[in-house]
Amino acid sequence: MIYLDHAATTPVPRAVADEMYRVLTEEYGNPSSQYPLGRQAAAGVAGSRQVIAQAMGCAPEQLRFTSCGTESDNWAISAALYQNRHVGRHIITTAVEHSAVLEPCQRLAQEGYELTVLSPDRRGNITAEQVAQALRPDTALISMMLVNNELGTVYPVAEVAGLLQGAQSRALLHTDAVQGFLKTEFPLAESGADLISISAHKIGGPKGIGALYLGRRVRNPRPLLPGGGQEGGLRSGTEATAQIAGFAKAVELWYTDLPSRLSHLDRLRRHARERLTAIPGVQVVGDGTAPHVLCVSLEGYPSQNVVEDLGAQGICLSAGSACHKGRPSHVISALKLPKKVAAGVLRFSFGPETTFEEIDDAAAALRRHRETRFPML
Ligand code: PLP
Repeated sequence: MIYLDHAATTPVPRAVADEMYRVLTEEYGNPSSQYPLGRQAAAGVAGSRQVIAQAMGCAPEQLRFTSCGTESDNWAISAALYQNRHVGRHIITTAVEHSAVLEPCQRLAQEGYELTVLSPDRRGNITAEQVAQALRPDTALISMMLVNNELGTVYPVAEVAGLLQGAQSRALLHTDAVQGFLKTEFPLAESGADLISISAHKIGGPKGIGALYLGRRVRNPRPLLPGGGQEGGLRSGTEATAQIAGFAKAVELWYTDLPSRLSHLDRLRRHARERLTAIPGVQVVGDGTAPHVLCVSLEGYPSQNVVEDLGAQGICLSAGSACHKGRPSHVISALKLPKKVAAGVLRFSFGPETTFEEIDDAAAALRRHRETRFPML
């Protein structure tokens, strides 16, 4: 099998699975229990938090575990709006956000919040100036993702943080960094965002565990889940000790090898770009620079057919976000591309295990698809 869909999810390395198994079977105590097995579990969670916080460039207590990136996004939005409830009810976000941000924002708009959704240009770019123009005294929250999951576009989050500071705005800045975590050498907390969402399963960790970074401007956040008081009283529920340990192990493996992983991913992406654009009718979509994502279009060939045809040959890639399941993606629609280009959009995404030969084989399969199938009318 050739797996070129690492932006959807990633395989779990053996060392991560082993660490989770060890915690499940040996360190299985409840971290709240007051005897050695419980204390050992609590120390395990604390150690994991430390590892992930170091990779984020923040203090361990600024990082709270959640059940996934989606939960982190939802929590960030509600925490910011609660803190700024006396500032106003205006939210700024972008048309290219993951549905884990867009859907809650749209629901809030139905409940009386005012939503400004910034549109990208045809290459997927959104500028800090667009945010500056939309900013108002009653803006409570800006949610701008760091790296787009379909295009690999990197958004100017640090610049937006700078402009908020310059404007002395009380608006809180959230960034969905689920696709950005450990995909740059820049520690995320240094971006200046107040709230940062991450998820383990995009970097070799297990599914079902994420985290939210809460920066210094987030004061006395309202607990997401009131209850037994875990996660500093902010998100109750017995800690998912094995998932947390797996998350930390995945971060450790990735972080200790960060420069070489990033350069491997970058070389893979350049190679894929070269091989794929050599196929007649293939063009790159967007100006994405994230090292693990390449978005292209085989103009006129419906991407769903390509994904099924290559999938039947054991080659996994995506017609856009895995979350859309065949529905036209809102991200691609936002680019306002010609219909035949939009219909042919394919996302190739890479991981540390991906090889150059796998990319060559996938490109050859796409070329065969073009030569043997009919395009749309
Ligand atoms: N945000 C982005 C940009 C994503 O790519 C994803 C997952 O695809 C999510 C949020 C949701 O993360 P999770 O699957 O951990 O809920």
